[in-house]
Amino acid sequence: MSELRPNIYRTAWAGELRTASVGRRVRVAGWVHRRRDHGGLIFIDLRDSSGLLQLVFRPEEAPEAHAAAEGLRSEDVISAEGELVAREEGAVNPALPTGEVELAVGAVDLLADAETPPFQIDEDEPVGEELRLRYRYLDLRKEAMRRNLALRHDVVRTIREHLNQRGFLDVETPILTRSTPEGARDFLVPSRLSPGHWYALPQSPQLFKQLLVMGGTERYYQIARCFRDEDFRADRQPEFTQLDLEMGFVEEEDVHQLIDGLLEEVLALGGIEVRLPIERVPYDELLLRYGSDRPDRRLGVEIEDLTDVLRGSGFKVFSGAVEAGGVVRAIKAGGEWPRSRFDALTERAQSLGAKGLAWAVVEPDGWRSPIAKFLSEEEIGQVTAALDAREGEAILLVADSAAVAARVLGALRVEVADTEPAGHDLFWVTDFPMFDWNEGEQRWDAMHHPFTSPSGDLDADPGTWRSRAYDVVLDGMEIGGGSIRINRPDVQQKVFSALGIGPDEAAERFGFLLEALRFGAPPHGGIAFGIDRIAAILAGRESIRDVIAFPKAASGVDPLTKAPAPVDERQLRELGLRLEAPGR
Ligand code: ASP
Repeated sequence: MSELRPNIYRTAWAGELRTASVGRRVRVAGWVHRRRDHGGLIFIDLRDSSGLLQLVFRPEEAPEAHAAAEGLRSEDVISAEGELVAREEGAVNPALPTGEVELAVGAVDLLADAETPPFQIDEDEPVGEELRLRYRYLDLRKEAMRRNLALRHDVVRTIREHLNQRGFLDVETPILTRSTPEGARDFLVPSRLSPGHWYALPQSPQLFKQLLVMGGTERYYQIARCFRDEDFRADRQPEFTQLDLEMGFVEEEDVHQLIDGLLEEVLALGGIEVRLPIERVPYDELLLRYGSDRPDRRLGVEIEDLTDVLRGSGFKVFSGAVEAGGVVRAIKAGGEWPRSRFDALTERAQSLGAKGLAWAVVEPDGWRSPIAKFLSEEEIGQVTAALDAREGEAILLVADSAAVAARVLGALRVEVADTEPAGHDLFWVTDFPMFDWNEGEQRWDAMHHPFTSPSGDLDADPGTWRSRAYDVVLDGMEIGGGSIRINRPDVQQKVFSALGIGPDEAAERFGFLLEALRFGAPPHGGIAFGIDRIAAILAGRESIRDVIAFPKAASGVDPLTKAPAPVDERQLRELGLRLEAPGR
């Protein structure tokens, strides 16, 4: 641990005592982790933040302390003083760093009583998450949670050191601000002083970091809290932490190289070895081969494009799709393939927007497949060969638009993969399209955000624009993303217009940014990384809640403080608010 000023509670960290200190009189303080009464002797494992130390209470040597120890219970807070002694040979505990010594207690003080905890701190039996969060301060006493928080601290410390050494300034940006469009719903805070006006909590510091660079802070970072009011999803938190950074006068390669080195150091904290440079894979290639811009490539199943092979097929489902500008793509998979499995996958494909799913099982003398009779022997041979499909393996084919084929096969490849992912898979995604077509609203959505610099011919259809954005994907999860930004007001307005934000609306919502762009904005770019997700991966935890000290439950509620909670009528009145359906 750290240096210690001896005080009335302790003169040493319990978890740090070793045989070198045998014979010393020391005082330690902490919680009663476990207590064992051996008739005469009482043993207590004392826990402080440095670890565990065994205390031994002997009735004949220290009758008062022994009598006090009889009354001690789990999680009582005590301070104990005595002589550090070597354990007898048979009593050495090699599993404990302090296992060769124990404290022969001369005196013990009870500093605070503990009620019986709702779950055992000293046992690793699973405890329901609701209960863990309700008593989070007890849950945090567990060794595993202490380690998670320490690892998270190391992640942040490593990031800070890396960036501090490279001239980055850590600058805070406002929490009460205006909406930043990152694609989620805003949390709103009503203003008491300007009735009818609202602050939004930042979905990210995006605009402020750009303004910082325009303000001459050429290298900015922040471990920033972000707020996004999204619907319930298993591992989302309404507030989360990201490493946010921005640099002036940079192109993509500058960001990539900085982050390559940073990730190498950070991921090493979890024993993940990174080979530099981190691979850069164009978006189109990922969509073609994996049907996703954040695939877990370790699953192995890859999509094969058969459009050319089946363009002239007598089977109209295939040739018709190609004629309509679509594609025919397929994956193959091993395992057992009863009819019912194909039916379930067909349903899944349809729920994802496919018209249908064609399937086949490779058998010694051809295909077992409802579509075999529509295809020539040559086509069957070509498809089998293109996928390198072996006897017993299944082939799943989708004939549809490229977008639907990617979406469907991207999802199915995850379902049919039968290899356990081994090792780690880390890569950059580059060369994104600028926009996504929003079918429901009949308009373009920014794939990253509207401040990302577009590339390509800006006088052509926005659907053809590319963007200077990039993501980082680790084991099938997007852990970071950013872009080179727009630094000219005319280009910014052009992007707004493509998104359906006309000059008036742009001036109203983003006038300050457009204005700043008129006062000499350098080319700039940056990125953000989800600290919670990275820490969870390094800690080997499924849930980011295990690396956040006080997370919300999956429902968005905090079982500890019971937030969100109703407020006084008076508070609402002060804000000029009235509830339509009180208490709902
Ligand atoms: N503001 C973006 C985000 O929060 C990151 C970036 O573009 O730097 O995802």
